[in-house]
Order: sequence, then structure tokens, then C-alpha cells
Amino acid sequence: MLTIAIQNKGRLNEDTVSLMSDAGISASASHRKLISDAKGFPLHVLYLRDDDIPQAVAMGVADIGVVGLNEVLEKEEDVDVVMKLGFGGCRLSLAVPKEVQYTGIRWFEGKRVATSYPVILRNFFADHGIHAFVHEIAGSVEVAPAVGMADAIFDIVSSGGTLVQNGLREEDTVINSEAVLIANPHLDEEKRAALAKLMFRFTSTIESRGMKYVLMNLPKDKVAEAAAILPGMKSPTIMPLADSQWVSMHVVIHENELWEKIEKLKETGATDILVLALENVIK
Ligand code: ATP
Ligand code: ZN
Repeated sequence: MLTIAIQNKGRLNEDTVSLMSDAGISASASHRKLISDAKGFPLHVLYLRDDDIPQAVAMGVADIGVVGLNEVLEKEEDVDVVMKLGFGGCRLSLAVPKEVQYTGIRWFEGKRVATSYPVILRNFFADHGIHAFVHEIAGSVEVAPAVGMADAIFDIVSSGGTLVQNGLREEDTVINSEAVLIANPHLDEEKRAALAKLMFRFTSTIESRGMKYVLMNLPKDKVAEAAAILPGMKSPTIMPLADSQWVSMHVVIHENELWEKIEKLKETGATDILVLALENVIK
């Protein structure tokens, strides 16, 4: 049976548990447990700190894991990134005090930079031929310049609000991160087959997110006009109604463009429009 390592508490825990749940796999969300059995898929669930997940997967303590790409790159463990999961988005950026006249990446030559991601930062500076002092600190990286511990920082940014509050300005994004599924590179054939099934479920779940199933009644002679409003779709499903002048049209629309499309469909004569949540798109 596969063992998956997930974050026990913190920013990725809830989204990981709900991805699994939407894929029909129920895991206990309790961070008090170390390990439990999931329902709905043969899977052991191991709850760990995110920092320990890449190593647990590389050692084979867990076969697979869900963790931020930032941790994968920082830990440099022998794991395969097999799938992006579409949540936990953030970026790792270099930021400088706002009064600094920043002249581009060369500005960092000889400077002291505080970070909790020393490996990624050293690799970045090495790639750019910059010699800087990388100071590893565990937390509150953003206060380091104000207290004189560093000239600049390299840290996780999501909205940028924390940087501004600390008088800093984001200059260069080094990596964009999101939660990813990682796997031990040496899984046996049985575990590979189980992983493929799990990835199929996750892919179907992720692809269905934000999709709506829309049904409407439409005058028969307006079908071509209505179909033209929905580019990129395979031809919509058309069903006859008792009144031979009318049909029922069924389409899948992403919620981002739902109202815009519905307004246009109404203009072509669509009525009795039903919008239903879509649970899964299985290709
Ligand atoms: P742990 O106790 O498991 O070590 P942590 O404090 O290191 O937790 P969290 O703050 O829970 O980690 O963040 C987990 C991951 O969430 C990060 O490694 C990153 O991939 C992602 N993430 C997304 N947005 C943010 C953000 N604004 N700040 C920090 N991490 C973020
Ligand atoms: Zn952590």
C-alpha cells in the first residue's frame, strides 16, 4: 500500500486534505495523529512538518508526499516532482530596504542577505556569478535589515504586504512555487500503478474545479449561434424537447466566464438556464 506524507498543520494541510476528499479519499485532518489509514483509496497517511517531507519521501519512509516546491528545491533530496497541485501558490523573492537605489542583480555583490532558504539563494547567486553573504535565519527574516543583521532578504512572498510593513521592496522573483506531489524515484511496479491511479483522481479533481454544468432551453434555429459563444468546447450536447421548435443544450463553462457567457446566451434566446456544480471531469 502507498504511504503519503502530508503537512500535519500549517498552510498546506487544509488544501491537501480537501484535494484528497474531493478525490474521494478521506484522511483525518487531525494533526495530533502521526499516521492513519485513509478511506476510499488504499493509502497510509503520514502527518509531518513540511520541512521533513522531502527527506521522508527520499528515504522511502513515505512513498509520495505533498509539499511546497520551495521545500523540494531547498532540501535537494532525491525525489521526483510528479504533479503540480494548483494550491499553496507563493514566490521566493529578493527584497531590499525601500531607500536603497537598486541597480539590478549586481547590487547584491558583497551584501549580506538573510533567508530561511540558503540553498536556493546560494544556487541563484552562483548562477549569476554574484558573491554575497547568505545568512540563514529560521524565522522573521523580514526584520533582519531593520535590526542591522542584513542588507537585504530573500523570503516567501504571497501578497507583499509583510514586506511593505517592514519597509522593504520586492526586486527579483527567484522562483514561483506551489504545492506539488513528489514521489520516491525507486517505487516498485505495484506502487507505481497505485500512484498512477491516484494521479488520475487528482487530475480529474483539479480539472473540474471552477467548472459548472449549464443546461438551457433554446430555439432550435439558434443552436449554431449559441454554440459560437462557447469556443474551445467540443460540440455542445443538444437534446430534443417535446416542442419540436426547441432544444435543450448542455455545456460545461468555467466559473470565471460563466456570467459573461450566460448573458450572451440569453441574448440569442436561451431561457430556463440551470447552472449545476460539477463534481468531476473524467477524461
Ligand atoms: P511546518 O510547521 O510544517 O514546518 P511552516 O511554518 O514551515 O510549517 P507554512 O507557513 O505552513 O510552513 O507554509 C507551508 C508552505 O505553504 C510553504 O512552504 C509554501 O510552499 C506555502 N505558502 C504559500 N503561501 C505562503 C505564505 N504567504 N507564506 C509562507 N508559505 C506560504
Ligand atoms: Zn516548515
